[in-house]
Amino acid sequence: MYSERLGDLPPYLFARIDELKAEKIRAGVDVIDLGIGDPDLPTPAHIVEALCEAARDPDNHHYPSYVGMPSFREAVAEWYRRRFGVDLDPEREVISLMGSKDGIAHIPEAFVNPGDVVLVPDPGYPVYRTSTLFAEGRVHTLPLLAENGFLPDLQKIPDGVLRRTKLIFLNYPNNPTAAVAPGEFFREVVDLAGDYSIVVVHDNAYSEIAFDGYRAPSFLQTKGAMEVGVEMHSLSKTYNMTGWRIGMACGESDILAGLKRVKTNVDSGVFNAVQHAAIAALLGPQDCVHRSCEIYRERRDLLVKGLQGLGFQCTMPDATFYVWLPVKNGMDFATRLLNEAGIVVTPGIGFGEYGRDYIRFAITRSTERIREAVERMGRLLG
Ligand SMILES: *Cc1c(COP(=O)(O)O)cnc(C)c1O
Repeated sequence: MYSERLGDLPPYLFARIDELKAEKIRAGVDVIDLGIGDPDLPTPAHIVEALCEAARDPDNHHYPSYVGMPSFREAVAEWYRRRFGVDLDPEREVISLMGSKDGIAHIPEAFVNPGDVVLVPDPGYPVYRTSTLFAEGRVHTLPLLAENGFLPDLQKIPDGVLRRTKLIFLNYPNNPTAAVAPGEFFREVVDLAGDYSIVVVHDNAYSEIAFDGYRAPSFLQTKGAMEVGVEMHSLSKTYNMTGWRIGMACGESDILAGLKRVKTNVDSGVFNAVQHAAIAALLGPQDCVHRSCEIYRERRDLLVKGLQGLGFQCTMPDATFYVWLPVKNGMDFATRLLNEAGIVVTPGIGFGEYGRDYIRFAITRSTERIREAVERMGRLLG
């Protein structure tokens, strides 16, 4: 009954983990879920207020514009200017997205012909791979290895592959490895993209979730980036707005025009009231973001020090709300954690082959629950 295209998709491991978790809860286990990449913190009140007010205005009840209201695109440009020093033309260099996943899922349709290569980091956010497959592109895996700081080794990509490559996905600060990228890496990417006419899609969903003074860059800050690429960004992680579905694609205008043509045919834009709330988020006070980061930092310290105390090799991440832990056969270890300690973590294999010997913790639970999880692990392993 289903298309071959659906049959070709890798099994969605996360749905399976949800089932196992539900089974445990039905059996009365007090499950600690460190599996989900979704903030447990609420959306800040001033943003919710802006939504409520805008929702009451009948002018906002119509179909929105495909690319976002001019005032939303101006707010995005203003935020990029303040935060990254990047100048964007709100008319041509910004479009709204129903979350960055929307942009990631649809951009290959605009650039990839059947058989064209897309460079996909592994481990990585699963949508890079599936969106490539939907466009009938060929995935060329970029292994992200610990010894390279979880950056792909661009020198290792064969020339023949590069000549057939249409698009590259990148994501720093990175999910799931929590790695960050130095500026030189982005310069290398821009050079490669220029040499081989490759569209760069940088996913910057975690730029604001950072610690100890680390400030994540925008890819678009890199000299030449505005000629070769776009950045997918989102309010989901920054303002605890995952359920609201709003993000933005920014960068080279012809690339955005391609994405826009696809999206015009599959969705009808983001509810205007949500865009008004997003404007309040982007241009309003940013202390809510600092408070979230402080909460994640405390949790991160607790978990990483706890894991180190149990004898694990665990590094302190500079950004994201993930901790990426090397363990032999992460799938077995995750299963054991769930069955014997009631802890949900994500096996690294869910993000690709190169995640096989890892598990990912999401620190989207309270310090009390994280402390309890470390204690349970201590009892299990001790
Ligand atoms: C959460 C996440 C996204 C998607 O976020 P949206 O809610 O769709 O904006 C995109 N990329 C990565 C790496 C993520 O972790």
